[in-house]
Amino acid sequence: MHIDTVAVQGGYRPGNGEPREVPIYQSTTWRYESSAAMGKLFDLEASGYFYTRLQNPTNDAVAAKIAELEGGSAAMLTSSGQAANFFAVFNLASAGDHVVSASTIYGGTYNLFAHTMKRMGIDFTFVAPGCTDAELEAAFRPNTKAVFGETVANPALAVLDIERFAAAAHVHGVPLIVDNTFPTPVNCRPVEFGADIVTHSTTKYMDGHGTAVGGAIVDSGRFDWLAHADRFPGLTEPDESYHGVAYARDFGLEGAFITKATAQLMRDFGAIQAPQNAFYLSLGLESLHLRMARHTENGQKVAEFLAAHPKVPWVRYPGLPGDEDYELARKYMPKGTCGVVSFGVAGGRSRAEKFMGNLKLAQIATHVADARTCCLHPASATHRQMNDAELEAAGISPDLVRFSCGIEAAEDIIADIEQALGAV
Ligand SMILES: *Cc1c(COP(=O)(O)O)cnc(C)c1O
Repeated sequence: MHIDTVAVQGGYRPGNGEPREVPIYQSTTWRYESSAAMGKLFDLEASGYFYTRLQNPTNDAVAAKIAELEGGSAAMLTSSGQAANFFAVFNLASAGDHVVSASTIYGGTYNLFAHTMKRMGIDFTFVAPGCTDAELEAAFRPNTKAVFGETVANPALAVLDIERFAAAAHVHGVPLIVDNTFPTPVNCRPVEFGADIVTHSTTKYMDGHGTAVGGAIVDSGRFDWLAHADRFPGLTEPDESYHGVAYARDFGLEGAFITKATAQLMRDFGAIQAPQNAFYLSLGLESLHLRMARHTENGQKVAEFLAAHPKVPWVRYPGLPGDEDYELARKYMPKGTCGVVSFGVAGGRSRAEKFMGNLKLAQIATHVADARTCCLHPASATHRQMNDAELEAAGISPDLVRFSCGIEAAEDIIADIEQALGAV
């Protein structure tokens, strides 16, 4: 099926006389006739629902749609994109382990890795996505457990060379995790280029209406944990907290990663997505293909307008000919990248803030990637914890404006930018 059809009909197939829309299972718990029947669920011997912190049918239907969209074998929803990236990495790496990450990642993910997970004893080495092969190679250590990057980085808009990073990861016997929030599977499916695990902040385009914070993890089912059993004992050796279940042996390569993340991390950290929010996400996914086409078209038009404007010293948009990642974008995202454009305003930080204040249609918001055009000045908002060196490594300059094109008429968005720049 085409991605358009999967977006509409994937995941949930009603049976005879069943509701056509995914039902919201607004229930914490499920009833069983005997303690023995429930015990089998707790031992992962039988599959079924008993407590929404672990699994809920609404969430599972929506996760199944996202797995289909990404071409993966299994998926789970999380309460946020932060939880998705935390679980994806922590499912593989423990205290004493190491992870290689692209440096141009979302500020929240950078804090999670460089500060919070570091306190948990996990070390990260950050490499520029455009680093040389030798630099990438040098980032690996004997205790490296994963490689992480964003398909299109938020907000730096650098494009990850997925095949190159996947090849490097696989040479070292570890999986590549790709955060595919910005392109969504409509514009890029990282699994097709060798990524092993895909994460999302569904808060962005997938929900698409600024309605519900959420995240998702998709497993490609292709990484051979058993071939690297000594590196991933958590997936290959018995889990004593489940009476000796061994995930890769008992759930296969297709199910091991998501089952472990659900059974251990969701059980213990509890970052479940509310079924009500999963329902909103489901509504958003049904029009993802239509909205992405318009977001992408508007992003392209706005980037082209800005590139020709005298008060705009630079524009970063991978769909713009001449952009340093133009060729990578064409390779990985022939339909276009996303609706987010980063650019500078002549005169630096204070002029960038003035420009934002002049906007009438575009709203200032700590958000990107929803139906309404919005914008943000990262240096004074999302990335304000970073010092100048960290900002530079993340690809963010003090004059950078992150502009998220909604699905309004491109002419109106451009007219708003034009008047706002004119008054600077
Ligand atoms: C927003 C975002 C996140 C974090 O997601 P939340 O849903 O806000 O927790 C992670 N990665 C990327 C690329 C994002 O844009």
